[in-house]
Amino acid sequence: VIRCRAAVAWAVGKPLSVEEVEVAPPKAGEVRVKIVATGICRTDDHVLEGCFPNVVFPVIPGHEGAGIVESVGEGVTSVKPGDKVIPLCLPQCGECSFCLNPDSNYCLKSHVSEPQNLLPDKTSRFTCKGKQIHHFLWVSTFAEYTVIPEYAVAKIDAAAPLDKVCVLGCGFPTGYGAAINTAKVKPGSTCAVFGIGGVGLSVVMGCKAAGASRIIAVDINKDKFAKAKELGATECISPHDFKKPIQEVLTEMTGHGVDYSFEAIGHVDTLTAALASCNMNTGFCVMVGELASGSVISVDPMLLLSGRTWKGTLLGGWNTRDCIPKLVSSYLEKKFNSDVLITHTLPIAKVNEGFELLRAGKR
Ligand code: NAD
Ligand code: ZN
Ligand code: ZN
Repeated sequence: VIRCRAAVAWAVGKPLSVEEVEVAPPKAGEVRVKIVATGICRTDDHVLEGCFPNVVFPVIPGHEGAGIVESVGEGVTSVKPGDKVIPLCLPQCGECSFCLNPDSNYCLKSHVSEPQNLLPDKTSRFTCKGKQIHHFLWVSTFAEYTVIPEYAVAKIDAAAPLDKVCVLGCGFPTGYGAAINTAKVKPGSTCAVFGIGGVGLSVVMGCKAAGASRIIAVDINKDKFAKAKELGATECISPHDFKKPIQEVLTEMTGHGVDYSFEAIGHVDTLTAALASCNMNTGFCVMVGELASGSVISVDPMLLLSGRTWKGTLLGGWNTRDCIPKLVSSYLEKKFNSDVLITHTLPIAKVNEGFELLRAGKR
């Protein structure tokens, strides 16, 4: 058993509490990982707010990390102690019908199909003050050591700087892949990106890499515009500067609407606005933002009858175990610069400050 620090969420609406926790050794098919760095994704904040009733408290959140394998359980063959890894909040078991389908990146072991509050054998490896603490998405990267099923870790290049590639665990691949894999943005096309936080900025990078000629970033926080422009946004607009709905503004700016629109916020109203912003026939809208469980969207069916495509994306469509190591190699070859997503670096003791920066729109 390892004793280390972890940021524990004891109850909905409470700040995280940095505690000493015990982390049991990995059982068969599991890997114990020393987490070296972790990012904060908006999804972690949604957990603290209680947006996902299927997350069980007390829980150790965090799902965008990078670390080093400390030990492995019986039967684990794909990684060994000392290997650098990225924990996968969307696993790739390689055996289920979806993993065997080359068009899919949805594994039946993902949180959408199977609760991940406990490891697959329905027990937890975490305790704190004598209480069992739940896992989150099987990765719980807000702990200095965590235990993860083998099929939810990806071995990466030994040269990778872990404090930089941790963002390749969620935010970057989600946004970049939404443009490249899910929308398959074509060269010369026009794109609109709603919300330019970590995920939306990665969408901008993906649209640019795919050769889009016009990329319009939409956000209510103008402090984010400079970075979006640096990464390839050709125009930045705030819905607050217009009297008419933003979908009408975008339609006027582009003639009949954009070719591709992306929603990277997670609100019902911006999702419908993004759908209406792409052109009525070949327009393609990608839902990236995560809405609170139980949200309902009502749309005018004409928006879809005329031919538009509306598609969601999980982690940008990547088959995680196969593709995240390749993305790390591309990062090392400087094919993209995901470092721009890293605005602050804080010790674990200041994890709540990190969330304050997120809520204040400063990261
Ligand atoms: P973030 O909070 O950093 O960014 C959201 C941005 O939206 C901010 O810049 C904010 O100013 C802007 N915004 C808020 N309300 C707005 C409005 N009404 N109009 C225009 N802009 C508005 O969040 P993030 O970490 O970039 O995550 C974005 C979303 O993606 C979240 O909902 C998150 O849960 C989701 N997500 C989904 C996946 C997936 O696999 N589909 C993976 C990771 C994150
Ligand atoms: Zn995330
Ligand atoms: Zn699978």
